[in-house]
Amino acid sequence: MRRHCDLLIVGAGAAGLAAAVSYARNCKGLLILLDANDEAGRKIAATGNGRCNLTNTAADGYARTKAFFESLGVIIEADGEGRAYPLNRQAASVRRALITEIKDLGVELLTATRVSDIQRRGDRFAVFTESKVSTATEFSAARVLIAAGGQSTPRYGNLGDGFRLAGKLGHSINSILPVLVPVVYGAKEKQIFAKLKGVRARASVRLMSGGTVVADEIGEVQFTDYGISGICVFNLSRHMRGHRDRIAVRMDFAPNMSESEVAALIEAGRAAGMNGLVNSALADCFDALIAAGNDGEYAPDGGAASLVKRLTIPISGTKGWKDAQVTSGGVPLSEVCADTFESLKTPGLYFAGEVLDYDGPSGGYNLDWAWNTGIIAGEAAAREGNGNAAHQ
Ligand SMILES: Cc1cc2nc3c(=O)[nH]c(=O)nc-3n(C[C@H](O)[C@H](O)[C@H](O)COP(=O)(O)OP(=O)(O)OC[C@H]3O[C@@H](n4cnc5c(N)ncnc54)[C@H](O)[C@@H]3O)c2cc1C
Repeated sequence: MRRHCDLLIVGAGAAGLAAAVSYARNCKGLLILLDANDEAGRKIAATGNGRCNLTNTAADGYARTKAFFESLGVIIEADGEGRAYPLNRQAASVRRALITEIKDLGVELLTATRVSDIQRRGDRFAVFTESKVSTATEFSAARVLIAAGGQSTPRYGNLGDGFRLAGKLGHSINSILPVLVPVVYGAKEKQIFAKLKGVRARASVRLMSGGTVVADEIGEVQFTDYGISGICVFNLSRHMRGHRDRIAVRMDFAPNMSESEVAALIEAGRAAGMNGLVNSALADCFDALIAAGNDGEYAPDGGAASLVKRLTIPISGTKGWKDAQVTSGGVPLSEVCADTFESLKTPGLYFAGEVLDYDGPSGGYNLDWAWNTGIIAGEAAAREGNGNAAHQ
């Protein structure tokens, strides 16, 4: 059975739900929202460790995000670092507010329905689906909005479909990479540093490539049995693109002291060796490196102070799609209109969210992008829908 609609949105995640709300508030045309998962917005409920860091006071779209959520009854509150959450710190309530609103607006949501192909047919789109629940498997839509996300966390339904669908409709895809993801030790380093599993320490952290600093961050590093995690390391992973040569993570565990001050402190015994200056498991690890004579391999000058200030651990790369919060790469922003996110290749086709080539640091920037692009693209599609209705 084939069904007709004015707008069909592929993906009921953050961007697709925001787009559906803004479209349906502004246009009476029939909107069908499809999602491959059994329920809409599954990933939203998992964001920010279940608290949903939904924007940041420094994000470009902060004001729009805040106003949008206030219109849904979700009050936003920022922490001291600008990370904004719903007042009740419940990601599930953000998801529920969006789903309640689309139901109230009469949006038709079909879950367990995966879009497998989209073809341009004259001035409309033929959309083909595989559905577990609906007899309608083909749709004819005046406009299509692709909000199918990226390729990270396939457990939430992200299989990179949006890139394939966009590619078939004439778009190029900038190469994709898993980001906001832990980094992984090489085999040798794993043997030495896996014993630090569970250690958390505040540090100034740098991504090094061939001895040159690529990016730096400050925050809490979390050692694991396979590599290093933590928000600051996630942020460094965004800068891995193109770097293959001698990649390493360099950590300074006493960023407010010079190396000579650290050396003097250790020398005077006031830090009881390194214990008391750095996490005791780290101190033990450094002592073992010095005793084995391979401290120089992991700190430029070797020795205790150098290990504290410049511990440099070579890495083999990052964890993969399963563990990455975000996908870098996708539909180039140069191929969409900056004011509407309508395709410059295929009129009537819109994009929103992670399928576009944008990725931001941890802290609410990625959801902010998803909401904002969704709201803007949804409004633009509504304007077109109203314009066409006026001419009929
Ligand atoms: C564990 C985790 C925590 C995170 N925490 C935060 C945070 O606190 N703050 C922040 O800013 N960002 C966070 N992010 C990133 C953020 O969730 C994403 O950037 C955002 O969800 C992207 O929105 P989107 O709508 O583009 O994609 P998604 O939210 O991934 O939605 C895409 C939807 O499309 C559907 N879909 C895919 N293919 C098809 C198809 N062929 N047919 C039909 N439907 C399809 C999927 O099922 C999915 O529901 C987190 C990510 C993860 C994994």
